[in-house]
Amino acid sequence: MSRRTEQSVQKAHTRIAAIQNAIHAVDYLCSGTLLEHRTRCGKPGCRCATGPEARHGPYYDWGHMRAGKLVHRRVTPEQAAVLRLAIANYRKVKKLLVDWEKETERLIDIEPPRQPRP
Ligand SMILES: [Zn+2]
Repeated sequence: MSRRTEQSVQKAHTRIAAIQNAIHAVDYLCSGTLLEHRTRCGKPGCRCATGPEARHGPYYDWGHMRAGKLVHRRVTPEQAAVLRLAIANYRKVKKLLVDWEKETERLIDIEPPRQPRP
């Protein structure tokens, strides 16, 4: 292996280690999206009829895929705060996996085969 190739291999392994560290640092992880909305109850004289800012809520619904079906569930504002972080983490980890795959492909292309040739 040339010195330049060795450096490329080393760099790829260093980037993979950084990706692994970044993934290891992640705690909460959720897919899907968080929807925030406000509603009107329809009762006459209720403050919610006076304008969009006076509506009830905000309410939070978490939508995500479960066994191939999109499901929604209502969550509390506290849970929504955790979910916001967990969803951001999910997107970050997905991007890291793409990067990890790229580095692996690079190594497949430049590293000598580990198995002896017949
Ligand atoms: Zn109301």
